[in-house]
Amino acid sequence: MPRLTIDNQEVEVPDGATILDAARKLGIEIPTLCFREGIEPNTSCMVCVVKVHGLAALQPACAAPAADGMRVDSDTDEVRDARRTALELLLSDHLGDCDAPCHTTCPARMNIPRMIRQIAAGDLSGAIATVKRDIALPAVLGRICHAPCEKACRRGAHDAPLAICLLKRYVADADLASGDPYVPQCEAETNRRVAVVGAGPAGLAAAYHLRQRGHGCTLFDQRELPGGMLRYGLTANRLPREVLDAEIEIVRRLGAEFRMETRVGTDVSLDDLHSQYDAVIFAVGEVGADADRCGLPASAKGVQADPQTGATGVAGVFAAGDAVRAARLAVRAVQDGKVAAASVHQYLSGAAVTGLRRPFSVHVGRVHEGEMQKFLREGSGGPRVTPSGREGGLTDDEARTESLRCLHCDCRKRTCCALRDCADVHAARPGRFKSQRRTFEQYAQHADVLYEPGKCIDCGLCVKITEQAGERLGLTFLGRGFDVRVAPPLGAPLSEALTRAAAECVAACPTGALARKDNARNSPSTEDP
Ligand code: SF4
Ligand code: SF4
Ligand code: SF4
Repeated sequence: MPRLTIDNQEVEVPDGATILDAARKLGIEIPTLCFREGIEPNTSCMVCVVKVHGLAALQPACAAPAADGMRVDSDTDEVRDARRTALELLLSDHLGDCDAPCHTTCPARMNIPRMIRQIAAGDLSGAIATVKRDIALPAVLGRICHAPCEKACRRGAHDAPLAICLLKRYVADADLASGDPYVPQCEAETNRRVAVVGAGPAGLAAAYHLRQRGHGCTLFDQRELPGGMLRYGLTANRLPREVLDAEIEIVRRLGAEFRMETRVGTDVSLDDLHSQYDAVIFAVGEVGADADRCGLPASAKGVQADPQTGATGVAGVFAAGDAVRAARLAVRAVQDGKVAAASVHQYLSGAAVTGLRRPFSVHVGRVHEGEMQKFLREGSGGPRVTPSGREGGLTDDEARTESLRCLHCDCRKRTCCALRDCADVHAARPGRFKSQRRTFEQYAQHADVLYEPGKCIDCGLCVKITEQAGERLGLTFLGRGFDVRVAPPLGAPLSEALTRAAAECVAACPTGALARKDNARNSPSTEDP
């Protein structure tokens, strides 16, 4: 029975155990991609490497035998660098979109393809929850957003982008018209209070998200009514006031308080707010004079604040929206309010203030010749609908027809991909090693399983699983060198290659290469990473 130490912790394991077995016994997590219990290790991914004292080269923990007296380090800079490099090599010719191009481009990071699938399925209550997870004022934005997501929509390279903004407006309008609009759940009251200076889009969004975290929230604004530039900078034709009022009412119903006609810097000082509240978010639209009056460091561009978190130089004071940048785009202001709320929540919880992190993502980028036809298999052939509903909105039929045009560009394993998770944890840079881009391919003949070779990392697990299961055809490696790929032998369809082992192969595949056709991306309950 060898006794060894890993990260200075001693452990005894049976003869024949590996370093990975020993680490797991100690509860030390070592990442693996190509390893699976019960299958002989092939050490192809090399993300499980560890440092064994006395050996120059790092060792793959999944295959290296545990030996008596061995001293192992699993978490040094050298080990982390080697794992990151191994991941970057695997990613160098990886072809897929973790998140769809529209989702990545939306300044508010809304999960657009999920909303579209929910509309297609007639699940409007799921769709409004998806929308309002990230956007506090979707009926407002559905009318005035400049829709950068549509410029990135993959379908735009074929005929016309999805009418994403109109679809979002359709979901939000249907919710408001229901008589019982969606109000997100709030966590238990924390008894912490936040002052939000400015009741425009950034301040309203900050309050909307802070209340959901259980923090008390009071908005101060010099105007008579909340809304900021949405009310005082846009005509009622462009943005009907009843739409704005209805969405502000939801912020009120969440428990936010409004102190209107109160000018911070004159009627009440920032110092007072700072001492009376646990945190302050400065979210005024016209920043120059306000910042001066409040004594916040500001330039012509706005209050000086950390662009990731909104933190100003003053402890507990954060800035958001036009207060920090002169972009004057409502969707950015709404996102800035959400980021400031996240930062304040971290600050009040005593956590490191990091704002909202973007998860690791790879992107297909420009579609190459011949690939669009393959992407189009996921969407209907119709043209972009022209709205004929009330005040330029979509009718129920139009919304459904439009939703069916979506190509569902996001990965089926976007929330459960071991490669993505590992790359995220190790801050891998997907573009570090340049190599030729693979061509997009899909094997779609199987009733339940989809195979996308561009996402395969050649771990061989599916090949071994089909062998062990006694599949008549199974999967095999085809090609040579860098071009080696897993595929059914003899050009057979996937439906014949994967019969009894299909589910196990999908579960074992560490990427989205093998996935269920109706996998997680279709589930409204799946949380975003
Ligand atoms: S397989 Fe993983 S890394 Fe690749 S696109 Fe899908 S989620 Fe992203
Ligand atoms: S086709 Fe659908 S999933 Fe793809 S970018 Fe457009 S809206 Fe997003
Ligand atoms: S398709 Fe097979 S070889 Fe490729 S990553 Fe998935 S399990 Fe590994």
